[in-house]
Amino acid sequence: YSSRFFKIHNFDTRKKNLTDESNYVGEGVGDIKQGIEGCIGNTPLIRIKSLSEATGCEILVKAEFLNGAGNSPKDRVALSIIQTAEEQGLLTPHSGDTIYEGTVGSTGISLAAICRARGYKAHICMPDDMAIEKSDLLLKLGAEVERVRPAPIVDQNQFVNLARNRAAEHSANPDKRGSGLFADQFETEANWRAHFTGTGPEIYEQTGGFLDAFVSGAGTGGTISGVALFLKEKLPDVKIVLADPPGSGLYNRVKYGVMFDPKEREGTRRRTQVDTIVEGIGINRVTQNFEVGKELIDDAIRVTDDQAIAMARWLVENDGIFCGSSSAVNCVAAAKLAKQLGPGHRIVTLLCDSGARHLSKFWANTEPIGGSEDDLSLDSIIGL
Ligand code: PMP
Repeated sequence: YSSRFFKIHNFDTRKKNLTDESNYVGEGVGDIKQGIEGCIGNTPLIRIKSLSEATGCEILVKAEFLNGAGNSPKDRVALSIIQTAEEQGLLTPHSGDTIYEGTVGSTGISLAAICRARGYKAHICMPDDMAIEKSDLLLKLGAEVERVRPAPIVDQNQFVNLARNRAAEHSANPDKRGSGLFADQFETEANWRAHFTGTGPEIYEQTGGFLDAFVSGAGTGGTISGVALFLKEKLPDVKIVLADPPGSGLYNRVKYGVMFDPKEREGTRRRTQVDTIVEGIGINRVTQNFEVGKELIDDAIRVTDDQAIAMARWLVENDGIFCGSSSAVNCVAAAKLAKQLGPGHRIVTLLCDSGARHLSKFWANTEPIGGSEDDLSLDSIIGL
């Protein structure tokens, strides 16, 4: 079969070096991507018909789960971190260098896939209360995975600190092959820049610059800051709105300038974990990636787990969209904002990942889809 294929395409007679891109026999054919890295970015912007009809606003979602390496917005970030490190000479492709990262999953999955494509190893530290699908996927991608108990940021076993320490141990050990790089998604500029040069400009172009608000949750803060920095420069009146799950301090940070509501939390100990089944968004510290864009965030909307679960069901029942927990939070916040702004506005948010990555946790909490007698009106969801 392969010799027939090669004859048809005339490869064997040309005898060209196919590792050299200029020798690819791609002339005249359609859009061929260069590896999985070529499938990152330029994601579709989708009008959610059900939410648009129910609110009278146009609700558009950037389909980030269609990024083609690790299937989330973190593909953009992982590629940006790796390319920046390569430009700085900190990583060399196909050298067997190791990338260490602390992640709740998505960034690890993106890094692990791109590491395979570029000849690196991935070593991922993650909290052990994240959906098992994510660590399973990481193992199948050949990453080394350390699952640790959720712990406060000051704890050396906390997943981010552990990854930083593992990278330092690698560098200090002469027996380790190649260099060890700590990817550092929470603090590195390469994170928000991926959204400043990718997600933000794409939203601007796809909407023709006609949008009233951008809504997003924040984990590292890279998405909201990068998109806000780009959009506010082009459209000073665009509203940037944070969607925040229970237990996260960011809502209060945006609303009142402090992580904890002084009335509620006076004298109480700072919480170290967010109290939610939502993964990937909500945090109790100001990271560098949140810091660079935080003054541009106009408002924050709190979303309960029940609201997120009901919205995930709504999106399947009405639109055939099967999304993960942070995407559902974004859509609840977009619908709440639509109610606040009134009909006739255009709101953009993100669908971060697929529900397939959340079957055992977030989706395990939902009622069976279809045939339910429950009142699944948008007002009832927002009221949950
Ligand atoms: N959704 C998911 C599923 C995530 O994993 C993350 C990142 N942890 C986010 C949303 C939030 O993105 P950011 O880190 O850019 O704030």
